[in-house]
Amino acid sequence: MFLIIWGLRVLYRTLGRGVFFCRRCGGDREYRHRAGRRYITVFFIPLIPLTRTGEHVQCLTCKTRYVTEVLKLPTTVQMQADLIAGMRAMVAIILRAGDPASPLSRRRALDAVTGAGDSGYDEDALEEDLGEPADSAKPKISALGAQLQIEAREWCLAEAIRIAMADGPLSGAERAAAEHLAAALGMTQAQAIGVIALTEQNAGR
Ligand SMILES: [Zn+2]
Repeated sequence: MFLIIWGLRVLYRTLGRGVFFCRRCGGDREYRHRAGRRYITVFFIPLIPLTRTGEHVQCLTCKTRYVTEVLKLPTTVQMQADLIAGMRAMVAIILRAGDPASPLSRRRALDAVTGAGDSGYDEDALEEDLGEPADSAKPKISALGAQLQIEAREWCLAEAIRIAMADGPLSGAERAAAEHLAAALGMTQAQAIGVIALTEQNAGR
């Protein structure tokens, strides 16, 4: 007697691999992006294709599956890169609004960028950033602001204000630059004025 063994199974095809931020692991991990398809098997061989199952992204470390939208979220490495690029752009704008040669402000600017994670940032890199056209800075600052909660935006703006105030009270041009930075970060004018006032007040103590 001839007996055919039928079955059903899902086969996965890997569409791509890369690194993403895994919420379960709480860090950057390798993933594979897969699409599945159900098959009827005959003698365990997948022969007849049926419906496609949804695509998913799977963390190779914890095996958690996510919808593919998860790939739109930045990795911590991207966030760090955006943070540094945004901070460098902010520092250049606020220094140019005051006296870019002031040693106290420059010292403070270097501290702000190294504090953001760019440990090799030095006078030469700062000089280079000061030569960058101002219109290339805004998208970097906006990218930074888009990733930050409001408290973190306020903190970044306060950092810039402290750079401007390292060599004396805020000038009109520095105040205007701080308001521009706030707008690029995605803050309202009221928020900007609040942060400027508070930072000046704290510096006065
Ligand atoms: Zn994971």
